[in-house]
Amino acid sequence: MQEIKEYVAKKKLTISHFILENKLKLKLVIVQVNDDPASNSYIKGKLKDLNEVGIEGELIKLPSETTQNELLSLVNKLNKDNSVTGFIVQMPLPNHIDENIIKENISITKDVDGFNLLSKINPATPNGIVTFLKDNQYDFTSKNALVIGRSNIVGKPMAKLLLSLNMNVTVVHSFTKKDDLSYYIKNADLIIVAVGKPNFLTNEFIFKKDAIVFDVGINRIDGHLVGDCEKNLKVSYQSPVPGGVGLLTRLSLLLNLLEVYRNGI
Ligand code: NAD
Repeated sequence: MQEIKEYVAKKKLTISHFILENKLKLKLVIVQVNDDPASNSYIKGKLKDLNEVGIEGELIKLPSETTQNELLSLVNKLNKDNSVTGFIVQMPLPNHIDENIIKENISITKDVDGFNLLSKINPATPNGIVTFLKDNQYDFTSKNALVIGRSNIVGKPMAKLLLSLNMNVTVVHSFTKKDDLSYYIKNADLIIVAVGKPNFLTNEFIFKKDAIVFDVGINRIDGHLVGDCEKNLKVSYQSPVPGGVGLLTRLSLLLNLLEVYRNGI
């Protein structure tokens, strides 16, 4: 498996050449309705990536008191704006806004995050992991995948995507019993952990020796970022945190924007 940092840097270079050679004028708008420090930091990273590859990025930051109808009007306006290639609505949204209603209203022609259920775009994190595996010639067919966590942005779309690649997919969650979890881990070729708990996956479990683990978790402990896995799991590959799935997710946003652009022409 290639080093993720190097892989992402190379892919970004290819994207920037492609944009330059084809004289593409692409624009991504990020809508933020919170002042959450984690969201601020993710958005900063996304804007930096856009700038690096030659895509215009615009942040529309709205106050937390913004109503659902106000946000819906902005979404509808962006849906119709020809100068905007695509846009994303940064999650989480304040509690008084129904996430699903917003997602359903993002036009599939602009839905860079693949949030609309009708969208052909795969959500950024699952797409980033699968693109990386494909680029590393990983053979998905008939292997056992274990997805730990069933969120709408990672676990569920991850499972769906791996199923479409002919894997045998198991999804476990907060109601899964520890003995069952151990059993599934022991039999898994590919494990995706998206729980949000440091040291959730440790060497207490028994792994297949050629198992591959992608650690999606991002947890902040005393100002440091850690994933959901203990370091040095006894597996053949474990993605690092930081510098792992987060980078693949950011790369995926650029790839998804290009796909939205291609689908629209
Ligand atoms: P979430 O916080 O919405 O849900 C957590 C999931 O973990 C739930 O589905 C729950 O059922 C499951 N879970 C909780 N306890 C469990 C247990 N004991 N056994 C099995 N499953 C259990 O999930 P999310 O939004 O997917 O986020 C998960 C983590 O991934 C967070 O740390 C988040 O910050 C991180 N994240 C990282 C990226 C990235 O780009 N690296 C992207 C999205 C999310």
